[in-house]
Amino acid sequence: MNEAHSVRQIWRSLGLPGIVDVHTHFMPKQVMDKVWRYFDDAGPLVGRQWPIAYRSDEEHRLETLRAFGVRAFTSLVYPHKPQMATWLNQWAMAFAEMTPDCLHTATLYPEPGVEVYVRQAVDAGARLFKAHIQVGCYDPADPLLDTAWGVIEDAAVPVVIHCGSGPVPGKHPGPEPVTALLKRHPRLCLVVAHMGMPEYTDFLDLADRYDGVRLDTTMAFTPFVEETMPFPKSEYRRLRDHADHILFGSDFPNIPYGFIDAMRVLTRLPGIDDVWLRKVFYDNAARLFGLPGS
Ligand SMILES: [Zn+2]
Repeated sequence: MNEAHSVRQIWRSLGLPGIVDVHTHFMPKQVMDKVWRYFDDAGPLVGRQWPIAYRSDEEHRLETLRAFGVRAFTSLVYPHKPQMATWLNQWAMAFAEMTPDCLHTATLYPEPGVEVYVRQAVDAGARLFKAHIQVGCYDPADPLLDTAWGVIEDAAVPVVIHCGSGPVPGKHPGPEPVTALLKRHPRLCLVVAHMGMPEYTDFLDLADRYDGVRLDTTMAFTPFVEETMPFPKSEYRRLRDHADHILFGSDFPNIPYGFIDAMRVLTRLPGIDDVWLRKVFYDNAARLFGLPGS
């Protein structure tokens, strides 16, 4: 049986019109090539052997997601240095224009002028921001970002934020800087990438305290991650409690296993049911991004 067939079987059996993947990467070719080289070399932020399962040209990657029945996905771009975000944002806007099933995304970096280009992205219709604290190596509560966060908060645009210390801690890892950010901007809709691995508990606590905080399942619960950063058994109950705040994400194409595996591990979590799966695979994201209901 081919993979697309297996993927479709999962969402069809749940009565869904497909799935939404809030965490996929499309980026300018030269940037993607660089990211892939970094994974090939197991660079310091990767830390282990990491063969990319879906390394192919952009057109083929789009076809793959569509064959899986991914109705909406994202082009998460992120800068690792100043004066890069504007260019990435222009690229992501053009990509979304050409790719109707890709949500228009944008990013930001602590630098002079960030408020201006964040406002431009919001005005141009950006539906999701990405902040990569590890790769960008900055403090999300950096005063340089404060007014930009205010713009995003007021516009109620969600932000996928990679802020846990996994796979290896950066300079500003973990829940403390994000807690400081939420104190300043309590209405921010932050989608904590990778369930906040390995600080799962702390980020679930933040989701308890702040209505806007959500978590994406990206890579979590897979054998690849469980090997080094297992999700605590005692917290499974809280996954059920947060059924409305958890979104499916895959990290396609940069994963060292199949897309189907990322879905299957969710269907096998102890104590979850079809209602939970429908919310996580589709309904929560559909509500967040105003997509057709299931
Ligand atoms: Zn990612």
